[in-house]
Amino acid sequence: MSNEYDPLYLFIDGEWIDAAQRDTSPVVNPATGSVLGHVPHATTTDLERALHASERAFQLWRETAPYERAKILKRAAELIRERAPHIERLLTLEQGKALSESRYEVASAADYFEWFAEEGKRTYGRVVPSRRPQVQQLVKRQPIGPVAAFTPWNFPAITPSRKLSAALAAGCPVIIKPGEECPATTLAIARCLQDAGLPAGVLQVVFGVPDAISAQLIASPVIRKVTFTGSVPVGRLLAARAAEGVKPISLELGGHGPVLVFADADLDQAAQLGAANRFRGTGQICISSTRFLVQRSAYPGFAEKFVAATEALKVGDGLAPGTQVGPLSNQRQLEKIEALVDDAVRRGARVLTGGKRLDGPGYFYAPTVLADVPGEARVMHEEPFGPIALLLPFDELDDALVEANRLPYGLSAYIFTRDARTAIQAGDRLEAGMIGINHFSMIVSELPFGGMKESGYGSEGGAEGIEHYLTTKFISQV
Ligand code: NAD
Repeated sequence: MSNEYDPLYLFIDGEWIDAAQRDTSPVVNPATGSVLGHVPHATTTDLERALHASERAFQLWRETAPYERAKILKRAAELIRERAPHIERLLTLEQGKALSESRYEVASAADYFEWFAEEGKRTYGRVVPSRRPQVQQLVKRQPIGPVAAFTPWNFPAITPSRKLSAALAAGCPVIIKPGEECPATTLAIARCLQDAGLPAGVLQVVFGVPDAISAQLIASPVIRKVTFTGSVPVGRLLAARAAEGVKPISLELGGHGPVLVFADADLDQAAQLGAANRFRGTGQICISSTRFLVQRSAYPGFAEKFVAATEALKVGDGLAPGTQVGPLSNQRQLEKIEALVDDAVRRGARVLTGGKRLDGPGYFYAPTVLADVPGEARVMHEEPFGPIALLLPFDELDDALVEANRLPYGLSAYIFTRDARTAIQAGDRLEAGMIGINHFSMIVSELPFGGMKESGYGSEGGAEGIEHYLTTKFISQV
């Protein structure tokens, strides 16, 4: 199969617009450092055009029966599945993750469209008995209006699909700005939606300088809802912008996932699954496991097994057969990981494996295990978003919970134990929106996905996912 990359466009009002007379930014293959293409940046006039188209499309799309919307979304899911071999390669080329990960991601993106196609048919209201017999009281759920969506580069298929599928099923048009680092994957999904029959203007895709685009879109009175996945500082900024226009926003802002490994757990399984999960997507996953808190009596044994499982992982170009861990996705991430590891080591952390860049082209960093990391190390506070696992001992459940809940993040947490009481207690007291007990599989279209505390608010996916794109209207009639 060829390594051909797709041409890049803006997608505005049903038209594919190339880079002619527009600024661009390069898209780099993180495994080789080579430039794959140049993504066009939308001008302020392009964005105005998109906003007008969105306003017009809303009138049409809200009137389209949920059943008809569902047909288009299901057809799009089929097209994503048909075109999966191509989209998966685009994803690995521009993002770097192993092809097996891209395969899972594209399949999951299709699932989201199928799931929300059906959920769109169930946006029920209710009839409330009146105090006066001649009055009829209806509570209706209606689409909230045009949506501005901002998605990052780490999951260029799943994250846009999770937002688009729910918004479109609810009857809302969307202007999405995916990460400029990985534009082709989201454009390929947009092409599936267009080919499935989505009318012009219902979905539009723009790129550019993120801050300028979000400022213009969020300030527009056309936009009635904002959704963002990315870092806490940017989430805070966009929430403030949305507040200016009293617009609701959903935020999914990353985490610092603790894993509580109790001495009674199956340590082989915990180490194998833990290492696979921590280094999956090169650790650039918001629900990734970061801090492994291990009960003291099991700590040395677990560390040994975890290091062995880490060293067995195959690192390389995501397109090479057998690769499990690809490069970091960009130079910023590589520099950040180097700085975090250097800082931790300077403060006394022990490197059990890794701890360095890998030779050759691309943004490769060795899967790294750090033990006994001091509390003042930056990596104990900042989301590493890269291939670093932290190992720390604990004595009792209460101690583990204090450490697990110490940070302002609250996205994911995991527990490994054979004791049902420990599992229930830890599950109840961990401050996280998603908790895995004895496993790590959390991203499924039919389940809610979201966090608490500074990890954000507004679960996406599951029955909850469509709620944010609906507004409640009460109609009383005599
Ligand atoms: P960033 O915060 O600068 O960017 C994250 C995403 O937000 C990117 O797609 C970017 O285009 C977009 N963005 C940035 N500023 C924006 C603005 N003013 N308006 C609208 N969109 C904007 O971070 P980064 O350098 O790409 O990554 C740094 C850190 O962010 C990572 O190390 C990680 O901690 C976090 N992050 C989290 C997720 C997640 O899934 N929650 C995804 C990507 C990055």
